[in-house]
Amino acid sequence: MITAFVVNSGSSSIKWELVDVDTERRLRGGIVERIGESGAAADHAQAMEGILGELGGENPSVIGHRVVHGGSEFTSATLVTADVEAAIERLAALAPLHNPANLAGIRAARAAFPGVANVAVFDTAFHQSLQPAAYTYAVDAGVAAEHSVRRYGFHGTSYNFVSGRAAELLGRPLTELKLIVFHLGNGASVAAIDGGRSVDTSMGMTPLEGLVMGTRSGDLDAGILFHLGRAGFSLAELDTMLNRRSGLLGVAGDGDMRDVQAAAESGDAASRLALDVYYHRLRHYLGAYLVTLGGADAVVFTAGVGENSAPTRAGAMSGLAWLGIELDEHRNDTISRNARVISTDASPVKILVIPTNEELEIARQAIAVLR
Ligand code: ADP
Repeated sequence: MITAFVVNSGSSSIKWELVDVDTERRLRGGIVERIGESGAAADHAQAMEGILGELGGENPSVIGHRVVHGGSEFTSATLVTADVEAAIERLAALAPLHNPANLAGIRAARAAFPGVANVAVFDTAFHQSLQPAAYTYAVDAGVAAEHSVRRYGFHGTSYNFVSGRAAELLGRPLTELKLIVFHLGNGASVAAIDGGRSVDTSMGMTPLEGLVMGTRSGDLDAGILFHLGRAGFSLAELDTMLNRRSGLLGVAGDGDMRDVQAAAESGDAASRLALDVYYHRLRHYLGAYLVTLGGADAVVFTAGVGENSAPTRAGAMSGLAWLGIELDEHRNDTISRNARVISTDASPVKILVIPTNEELEIARQAIAVLR
């Protein structure tokens, strides 16, 4: 049996799977959540040790690693060599929450499975199709070129998988479809996808820009940084504040969507505000990408919040019948693990919930590199 061991090391969780490459069946897998919180693994290295123990002597054909930032250097999945590892380490400056966790996974896997190929599958690769108008920041061109300042975009593995599934669900070829996909997890972004190619996305040079996230601010006026810098905040403090103490956590005091929803329902005003800001930002990007694409065939929700939070989907999609986007409240409220339509039958633009499967997408790409 040909198997791929998939390591998806995220900001607060590590998902892992052993996948039978031929049948695309998940043989074994698990998730370590809330890393860093009390009662859980202290850090990614400790979480990984536990996972490797659970694999118990299984020898995979290839190990596929989710790597968040590939810069402009990586436009597709790549065999991990010493040079590639050094590049991932260098690019950690652009993804401080993620690349170091990804590297820890690569190193632990290599130590545990000497001789098995490690393949890096980059979240940024899918968005290398962006045109200059979409990826260029209007800053000093010389500085931008020297310091690789441009929009890269993230969650590409998920967008790749989800857009393919959307085409299956709609029964139409992906090459004909205009899709707006909201990937809403702890990290969150949205992409405008035309014919299977990314044309715009909300995350930028780093995974900080765009939507409100669990602990990240998303969009803000860069002038705020100068204001706070003059008030005495150091660069390190600003980095920590925007990446780890902002978003839902910053506004509501809790970064987990389930907790924020529960608190808002029991009348907590800060949690209510956090949700309103979160929805407002979703709607802002929905409007922008409808114009960018010239309409849409479907709006798709995926990842932890997108798949499970009916209030979030309603907050983003309510009152849009005039645009041809009509949510069916009963369908939206129905709990399911399956890919499904949650718009009304009459809605010209379909609204879909599609569980992402980044692990399977990574397994597919890792084995393709090996072959
Ligand atoms: P990551 O980016 O770490 O992979 P996930 O895609 O697993 O994150 O999403 C985690 C988020 O999904 C958390 O904010 C969690 O609260 C949220 N979530 C999971 N289940 C639900 C639910 N039933 N209702 C609301 N939010 C949920």
